[in-house]
Amino acid sequence: MATLKNFIAGEWVASASTQAQELTNPATGESLGQVPVGDARDVDRAVAAATAAFPAWRATPAVVRARVLFRLKALMDAHVDEIATLVTKENGKTLDEARGSVRRGIENIEHACGIPSLMMGSSLEDVAAGIDCETFRQPLGVFAAVTPFNFPAMVPLWFWPYAIATGNTFVLKPSEQVPLASIRIFELAHQAGVPAGVLNLVHGGKAAVEALLAHPGITGISFVGSSPVARLVYAEAAKHGKRVQALGGAKNHVVVMPDADLDRTIAIVTESVFGCAGQRCLAGSVIVGAGKAYEPMRDRLVAASKQLRLGNGLDPGVTLGPVVSARHKERVLGYIEAGQKQGAVLALDGRGASVAGCPKGQFVGPTVFDRVDPGMTIGTEEIFGPVACVTQAKDLDDALAAIHRSGFANATSIFTQSGKAAREFRYRVGVSMIGVNIGVAAPMAFFPFGGTKGSFFGDLKAHGRDAISFYTDQKVVISRWS
Ligand code: NAD
Repeated sequence: MATLKNFIAGEWVASASTQAQELTNPATGESLGQVPVGDARDVDRAVAAATAAFPAWRATPAVVRARVLFRLKALMDAHVDEIATLVTKENGKTLDEARGSVRRGIENIEHACGIPSLMMGSSLEDVAAGIDCETFRQPLGVFAAVTPFNFPAMVPLWFWPYAIATGNTFVLKPSEQVPLASIRIFELAHQAGVPAGVLNLVHGGKAAVEALLAHPGITGISFVGSSPVARLVYAEAAKHGKRVQALGGAKNHVVVMPDADLDRTIAIVTESVFGCAGQRCLAGSVIVGAGKAYEPMRDRLVAASKQLRLGNGLDPGVTLGPVVSARHKERVLGYIEAGQKQGAVLALDGRGASVAGCPKGQFVGPTVFDRVDPGMTIGTEEIFGPVACVTQAKDLDDALAAIHRSGFANATSIFTQSGKAAREFRYRVGVSMIGVNIGVAAPMAFFPFGGTKGSFFGDLKAHGRDAISFYTDQKVVISRWS
């Protein structure tokens, strides 16, 4: 299979590195190509191209930049199925999930099309007698993003549409495990009229990221991935004087109150835990039954989990795809083993699951642990696989205490019919993205996305209005003409 190329100055070019790693379809084991292990030489070339493209792009009127994004949005709409199929092939998630994620990505392009309004400054006459004050938002130069494997199309689209809409130029380092969707989207961006050098793509892993973090030509960096790497990226980028937003991992608690509508709750919670094979930063992980909700919730969650259909995400009717790689499968199985050893009750065991016709697939069947203690590894660490951890809380206070013991604070949900309980939960819970009778509390493109505590390092979050602030400087002009 062919070795993938970097996109630099509007051309697809070979990496300077001769090292490459195999890209495989996690459902079939089929080879999808070779991904170059890029390094500082590739990053230097990409940053040089982005730097050269910046003066003309920042001087391009915002309405003209927006028109390029309008054309890209139309092209993306026309290619949703093609991109979603690439996402399923490289990541494993079902085609429905992949389509939904591509559409969520496109919503960021739509939002960024509003840049002439979004980027406006403010003004006030006579801040003192005869003195006026106004602000302008200006782009800052070259930005970069480093993205994870679980949303190959969507997560990169959280960043670069806003960065280039505001007049910056960009270098993307997609996950080396899922680079294909971004390659296709960059082809479409080129077709839409994004000028050469405005968008660049470099393949690779740690070495390429380290080169981005240290590069003096890069003004700011956005990162999404696991918490240990997010923490490292935050510290290293700050050390080099860059703007940084680093989104990390999660351990999301879902609280089911005794008054919850159990039919709807179980359907939603099952999707939350097992959608994308649990490989979502917003996945439900610890399912907390409050008081009398606990037993019926657990029994019905186990029953619903048994109904999931494991298989190749491209096949109709499949509701649970493989995990992303053999290495990741080992990691998930390790957590299941640890849960058993530490005394959690394995109510449904997905180990050993297989799929006819896919002997090389990285499948883990739906798994449900009962009586998970916060002291257990599976009660504390992010598993990032199709594993539910059920636990009991006495009441809402007890559930909130369990949530606050976690080192992560990305998302959490409550299922209840009580407005009072929902309000109390929203008011008190120290977590950033909250679902009320919603299992995956994913903010849309025009709201901020990101957690707190060990799930987020920085202050300005992804997309929403924060993106405009992250990618621009506010210039303040104070004038007296007398
Ligand atoms: P990862 O941290 O392994 O990799 C993310 C990116 O960092 C990749 O591009 C990778 O090449 C690079 N990288 C990996 N190790 C590195 C190192 N030592 N130094 C520098 N760069 C390195 O994450 P992943 O496994 O690709 O993705 C899964 C993680 O992402 C989960 O923890 C998940 O919760 C998190 N995630 C978070 C959000 C969010 O919004 N908070 C969204 C999606 C995924």
